[in-house]
Amino acid sequence: MTSLGSITRVSGAVVEADCRGAVALGEVVRVGAERLLGEVIALRGGVATAQIYEETDGLAAGDPFEAAGEPLLVELGPGLLGQVFDGVQRPLDRLAAAQGDFLRRGAVSPALDRDRLWPFQPLVQVGQWVDRGTAIGTVPETASLQHRVLVPPSISGEVAWITKESAARVDDVVARVGGRELRLFHSWRVRARRPVRAWLPPSLPMITGQRVLDTLFPLPLGGSAGLPGGFGTGKTVLQHQLCKWADADVIVYVACGERGNEITHMLRDLPRLTDPRTGRPLSERTIIVANTSNMPVAARESSIFTAVTIAEYYRDMGYRVAVLADSTSRWAEALREISGRLGQMPAEEGYPPDLPSRLAAFYERAGRAQTLEGREGSVTLISAISPAGGDLTEPVTRHTQAFTRTFWTLDKDLAAARSYPAVGVQASWGDVPEPLEVWWEEHGGHGWGRLRKEALALLGEAAQLEATARLLGADSLPERQRFLLGVAGVLEEAFLQQSAFDAREARDEPPRQFALLRAVLHFRDRGLSAIERGKTEAALLSLPVAAKLRQARAAATVEEIAALEREIDLATGE
Ligand code: ADP
Ligand code: MG
Repeated sequence: MTSLGSITRVSGAVVEADCRGAVALGEVVRVGAERLLGEVIALRGGVATAQIYEETDGLAAGDPFEAAGEPLLVELGPGLLGQVFDGVQRPLDRLAAAQGDFLRRGAVSPALDRDRLWPFQPLVQVGQWVDRGTAIGTVPETASLQHRVLVPPSISGEVAWITKESAARVDDVVARVGGRELRLFHSWRVRARRPVRAWLPPSLPMITGQRVLDTLFPLPLGGSAGLPGGFGTGKTVLQHQLCKWADADVIVYVACGERGNEITHMLRDLPRLTDPRTGRPLSERTIIVANTSNMPVAARESSIFTAVTIAEYYRDMGYRVAVLADSTSRWAEALREISGRLGQMPAEEGYPPDLPSRLAAFYERAGRAQTLEGREGSVTLISAISPAGGDLTEPVTRHTQAFTRTFWTLDKDLAAARSYPAVGVQASWGDVPEPLEVWWEEHGGHGWGRLRKEALALLGEAAQLEATARLLGADSLPERQRFLLGVAGVLEEAFLQQSAFDAREARDEPPRQFALLRAVLHFRDRGLSAIERGKTEAALLSLPVAAKLRQARAAATVEEIAALEREIDLATGE
C-alpha cells in the first residue's frame, strides 16, 4: 500500500482525493480509517476519483487514501463452487447472506478458504514443457466436477518441480514452471477477458428443458439472451428454473440489485434439490454472486464482471457455464447513480453515455471456445431486464438487443392470466443458425425446422385473428379461422405452458418437445382438411382426442404422444 494523499470529497459511493503519488485508472484503493475497498474510476489533474465497494457513512474529507498497486482481481481456484460471494468476491457466510447482511466494513477476507486441504493429482512431470492455460493437475472440487489446475494464461515453460500426489491448500506451491511458483489458485483481473485458443460457432443449443424457449427461441451454447419483463411477470422464477434445469456444468447466479429475500429463498431451495444428471445437490454446481438492493451500489457494478470472470475460468477447464444475471436493469441503475455522483453529463434517461459500451463489455464475454489446452468450453449469458413500467423501448432493453441474438420477452397479460412461463411469442425472438437446426433435426426429430416455423406462423396468425375477433366478435370469422384460433389455444395449453412447480413437468427433453409440437400441428392439418369436407370447428375441438392433446404435456411419453396422431387420423377421418 502506498499512501497517496487524502480525501477531498465524499458523495455516496464515490470519493475524490488529492493525489500526490502516481495511481492508475482501475487501481484498487483503500480509503479512510477502516480502509474501505475501492477502485479508481477517473483521473483528472491531481484528482483521483474512486468508487467505494462498501458503505461510506462516516467517511470524510481529510481521511487517508491509499493505493494497492494492483487492479481489481478475483481468485480462481478450487472452492468456488457452492459459495456465496459479494460483488467484489468477498465470501458471504451463507447465513449472513440469508439475513440480507453483509461483511464488516473494511474486512479483508480472501475469496478462497486458505485452510481447506484438496487432494492434488499431478498431470505433468519434471522436464515437461507446459503451455499457458494448460492443466498441471486436478483436484476433485465436488463429487461430480474435476477441477483442472491451470497454468495462468500469462505463464508457460518447463516444469522444474511438481509435488507428488498430495493434499494441498490453495496457496501451497505445487509446481515451479518457467521460473514461477504455481499454486492451486491464481488471480485474474475482473475487467479483462480470459484468453482462448479459438472461438467456435454457435452450433449447439443450450437445452433449458423449457419448451417455449428451446423449441421456439433457442439459445446456443455460448450465446446470450435478454429476458425482459415488467414486475411480477416471472423473470426470477424463470431464472431459477434455468438454474435447476438448463444444460450447464456450472451456474453462476448474479443476484444484482433485486430483493434479498429471493436469495434467501434460493439458498434454502438449492441444497435440497438434486441435479438430475448427477444425483448430487444442485448447490454443488452453483456459485452465487449476491449484491441485493440493500448492499453497496458500486459492488453491484462490479458483480456481473466478477461473475463472468469466474465463469470464464470454468470454461477454460472445458466446462459449459451459464451466467444468470437478475437483473441488468438494477446494474444499470448502479451505473446511473455513480455517474450522477461523478457529475457526468447524463445521456438517455440519466444513464451514463457509455452505457452501451459497458453492456458490450459484459456480453462480449459470452462464447463457445476451444480453450488454451484444446478442450471445448462455453459461457452462456442470460440476463433479466426489469424495465420501469414494462416499457421495452427504454435504454437498457434497447441496447441489450444489440448484443443478444435471443430475446425472451415476458408478457404482463400472460402473467396476469397465470399462463406460465409468460413468454410473449410475438415480442420474442431467437436466431437459429443452420448447425443448430441440424442438431435439432437429429436430436429432436426430423422436420423440426419446418414445424418450428409453422408453429410461429400459427401463433402469429392467431394473434391477428384474436384482434379481429375482439373487434367484430368471433362469429364474424370463417370456420377455418375459428378452428385455427382453437388450435392455437391447444398449442398454448399442450406446449407453451409449463409449470415451474410440478416436478413431472419441470424439464422436457428435445424428443418429447418435438413430439408434442408435431402432434398439435398434425391436429391442425387433419382438422383443416376435415373442415374442407364440411366438419365444424366446434365438432373438431370437442373431440376426445383434442382434450387428450391439451393434457398430453403432463404425463404422456413420446410413444403415447405419437399414438395421439393416429387417434387424430381416426377421429377426423370420413
Ligand atoms: P419478477 O421477477 O418478474 O418480478 P417473479 O419471478 O418473482 O417475477 O414471479 C412473480 C410470481 O409469479 C411468482 O411468485 C409466482 O407466484 C408466479 N410465477 C412466475 N413464474 C411462474 C411459473 N413459471 N409457474 C408458476 N408461477 C409462476
Ligand atoms: Mg424478480
